[in-house]
Amino acid sequence: MSSRSKPGSALKEEYTRELHVDEWRVFWRNLRCAFIAETIPGMIYREMMNALGFLAKPYFFRFQAIPGFITVNMLVNEGYSPKEALEKYAWLHTIGGRGKAEIVEADLDKPKVVVKVYDPAITQWFRRNVKNVKTEFPFYDCSWLGYSWVGAVKAALSEGSGGSIPVTYDSGKCFALGDEYCEFHVERSEREEDPFQDLEEDYLTHSLHSKSVKSIAHASSGRMNEKIWKLIDMLEVRGDGEICIGRERILLVEGGMYSLAQMLLPVELFGGVVYGAYMRSHLDYGRFLAKQGRKYGLERVLDFFLSSASSMGWGKLELVEFEESRVVLGTYQSIYAETAKDYIAKTGLKRRPVCTYGWVVEGILNYFAEVEGKPPFVSKEEKCVAKGDNYCEFVLSRKTS
Ligand SMILES: [Zn+2]
Ligand SMILES: [Zn+2]
Repeated sequence: MSSRSKPGSALKEEYTRELHVDEWRVFWRNLRCAFIAETIPGMIYREMMNALGFLAKPYFFRFQAIPGFITVNMLVNEGYSPKEALEKYAWLHTIGGRGKAEIVEADLDKPKVVVKVYDPAITQWFRRNVKNVKTEFPFYDCSWLGYSWVGAVKAALSEGSGGSIPVTYDSGKCFALGDEYCEFHVERSEREEDPFQDLEEDYLTHSLHSKSVKSIAHASSGRMNEKIWKLIDMLEVRGDGEICIGRERILLVEGGMYSLAQMLLPVELFGGVVYGAYMRSHLDYGRFLAKQGRKYGLERVLDFFLSSASSMGWGKLELVEFEESRVVLGTYQSIYAETAKDYIAKTGLKRRPVCTYGWVVEGILNYFAEVEGKPPFVSKEEKCVAKGDNYCEFVLSRKTS
């Protein structure tokens, strides 16, 4: 089932059945999700590997086990058998535009699960944007995909007695390195290496499950958002497991896990280097958008970013103030903040702002500031739902010197 390609209309049908929109939030079944251009994770992952080298795996990529774990755990809680839940996860992989995923072996007693991914997103970005992946990153192996499957298998094992077995992956083949597809072998870790070390697994299992029940109640209240459905209508399907808008490849990601997997936990455990790389890649993405849209001018590029991020399910982003030396951006229902807030409350972590949108806007403003020979802006998230405010607010001020 997971291996069949989906023609465009069938995919829309699946989306209509399984996606719910509630104001500015998008849910796949019970999970908060978002659409994202593959350029963004591409830039983040390249920057992480530049900054951290082979430590990118333990310091950053391993947290990608979280979205896989949460998704399969949710499916098992809904009544799928562990194997069915893994098949469904492979299917989400495919219709979510991450590339067609095929489970070629699933022996949960061993345990051993082997997955092939064709036309993997982000990996394709690396092939296009990094001249020689192997030379530049000798340790490269599409860790984000590998760990997401580790999380998925771990959740499938938790149903039986295998929940405490440390599992990890080996990358057999890799599309970025010239193979036809990526292949991951998820098995017991011989060195007892456990990507779930230091993670609040209990929290991930229970609280997100109860939260998802709430979200369904929300979603069925029927508050639809036309802008989001319009975006879904614009998605085109190409090949197997490829979704695009125009030239840009788009993925549906378990975005609610983004703030945990990409930012909150790596920064909590490994601090400034991860934070710095994360910030730089968002600034770069802003500059990239500005450069692409240079001929349309600053205001139209800004408007494009704010309205597309809003329609993609990241929260409602809008300009509150737009002056020569001061720009204020308000964000409501931010996917980062709403997930992080619950996690912080449960685990007693330090409450702090967690959203990324201000950096992208800073990158856009500063590209144009540079063109005009003016001093750059610096952004600060002054208010954030994750630290207890009612909404998020970024203040961008032009440097005075
Ligand atoms: Zn690969
Ligand atoms: Zn925030």
